[in-house]
Amino acid sequence: EVVFRAEGLTKIYDTGEVQVHALAGVDLALYASELSVLLGPSGSGKSTLLNILGGLDHPTGGRFWFRDRDMTGAGDRALTRYRRDHVGFVFQFYNLVPSLTARENVQLVTDVARDPMRPAEALELVGLGHRMDHFPAQMSGGEQQRVAIARAIAKRPEVLLCDEPTGALDSRTGTQVLETLRRVNEEFGTTTVVITHNAAIRQMAHRVIRFADGRIERIEVNDHRLAPS
Ligand code: ADP
Ligand code: ADP
Repeated sequence: EVVFRAEGLTKIYDTGEVQVHALAGVDLALYASELSVLLGPSGSGKSTLLNILGGLDHPTGGRFWFRDRDMTGAGDRALTRYRRDHVGFVFQFYNLVPSLTARENVQLVTDVARDPMRPAEALELVGLGHRMDHFPAQMSGGEQQRVAIARAIAKRPEVLLCDEPTGALDSRTGTQVLETLRRVNEEFGTTTVVITHNAAIRQMAHRVIRFADGRIERIEVNDHRLAPS
């Protein structure tokens, strides 16, 4: 079951002086319940693709679909609704509200979602059942990122898009954060796309998608994870 499909997707940033071809024709299918990683050098187009899939940015050419909905020409209001109803985001920086506890940060989302988890349930899922009443400043970077993951999954999004979630963490802590994403993917079947330079992801991902110069260079399929369990 295809969740995302892109055909000839392009993104040109026109800065006046130069045109940057951030995406130079991307064809891609991402399947339900899979965890995919986008690898490749800085500037190769990974974030641009993730932002388009998440409805944060518009392509300049090509087409893309979310399930059977053609999202190519979607306007800002349709994209806002799409993000709210279907997408969870995790970024490099956690963007937690410092004056609120972990539980209250997650509650900001669950208060307005249609069929949310309980905040405690989301926090237990990311291994923070014992930190629910802590404030961000009382938690490590890895714990804060796991609160951000709890916040992202608490509305039960169909897709979880993670742009450098390990970028501000040392490699061991980053690996723990990736293990948290993998556990969420396994327990809920949340279709997940991660940009990370942490090597531990390769064993966890179903698909390893390599970018170079705005194009997909190759896709490796991780057989041991794709095998039906
Ligand atoms: P639209 O083109 O649909 O009106 P925007 O112009 O605001 O939307 O671009 C959407 C995103 O792409 C913004 O986040 C913006 O930062 C980025 N962007 C696009 N073109 C440029 C540019 N020339 N310089 C800087 N940022 C750009
Ligand atoms: P990656 O995530 O692989 O590091 P990006 O998608 O962030 O790559 O960037 C791809 C290319 O697009 C780079 O050359 C980058 O400088 C350029 N770019 C990204 N965002 C903008 C923007 N808002 N305005 C102009 N150029 C941009």
